[in-house]
Amino acid sequence: MRLLRQIRLLSWRIRNHKRMKTVLLDCSEQQLEIAAKMIRDGFVVGIPTETVYGLGADASNDEAVRAIFRAKGRPADNPLIVHLSDFSHASEYTHDIPELAYRLAERFCPGPLTIVLPKNNRIPYVTSGGLDTVGIRVPSHPVMHRLIEMSGCPIAAPSANSSGYPSPTCAEHVLKDMNGKIPAVINGGQSELGVESTVIAVENGDSVRILRPGCITKEMLCDVCSNVVIDRAILHELEAGQKAASPGMKYKHYSPRADVVMIESTIEDFTEYVRTHAGGNTYSLIFDGDEDGFPFIHMTYGADSSSQARLLFKRLRELDDLGAEKVYVRAPSTEGVGLAVYNRLIRAAGFEVIRI
Ligand code: AMP
Ligand code: MG
Repeated sequence: MRLLRQIRLLSWRIRNHKRMKTVLLDCSEQQLEIAAKMIRDGFVVGIPTETVYGLGADASNDEAVRAIFRAKGRPADNPLIVHLSDFSHASEYTHDIPELAYRLAERFCPGPLTIVLPKNNRIPYVTSGGLDTVGIRVPSHPVMHRLIEMSGCPIAAPSANSSGYPSPTCAEHVLKDMNGKIPAVINGGQSELGVESTVIAVENGDSVRILRPGCITKEMLCDVCSNVVIDRAILHELEAGQKAASPGMKYKHYSPRADVVMIESTIEDFTEYVRTHAGGNTYSLIFDGDEDGFPFIHMTYGADSSSQARLLFKRLRELDDLGAEKVYVRAPSTEGVGLAVYNRLIRAAGFEVIRI
């Protein structure tokens, strides 16, 4: 009860623009009950999910959703994903759900897949960034799942970072970006996957378009439908005036303060490039297994795509904490989950890629 009073006080302080400290909750049923009540009451809570941490609020409450945008400093036209406890509830918030969406949900929900569908008027335009569609996801993380059930709300939850910065994969990252801006964060440990969900739109018939790559890969989607298109914006910078199918793609994203440069090459050529170009406060981010004999200051971010996905944002944040000014990153493969890692990195690098 003391905690509940403390959180009420924090919520009041936020509403009245006073300074406060964000409370860290654990995953006990009692503390989740408090978080669920906060969500029902229109507040924003930091929540662990299997992808990255989210900033969750009642998706059907305009004011609650506005508070998410304020806390993140997120542009108003960048839509939020709505999280439900089961795909069978999608018809309460959307209409004209294609048969293929049900087939995809059958295979991949709960899990890291977001399906864009035509929204109905229970989802306000603040949530959808002004679009007539909304991304629906059914998370598998037990804490997020339980919160949706306990609160009885569809939960809008973007990644819990300040807009433009790397996504948070643990509660400490959320606190770093959000302390004093939201009343509470639930500590659910390290995110299992480390990159945000795969976002898809169902096109006519049996075809889907990947708008943002994630851990549900093109190959996995191909198992369920006959045609999978990778949107051009996933690997290429939008041209001036070009409309983004996925609004998040047009913004600077996932970027630490350091200047990131991605290098597509063998480790030998990478080493040679760093030798001839490195200045003060330069770090390299290489694969596990590359470090034998690598003579410059470095960190590693895994040997395979799944570990790279899990570690990437953590490493980018650590490099900032170390005061890195320049970071040369060894480019990951674009196969399977690698495409998601490559997509985040190319944005962190502002599309600065050196191919040797
Ligand atoms: P985040 O909330 O940080 O995980 O980012 C969600 C991203 O999903 C957005 O930036 C969009 O790129 C994409 N997205 C969400 N809703 C839609 C939608 N209705 N149509 C297209 N893309 C969407
Ligand atoms: Mg995000």
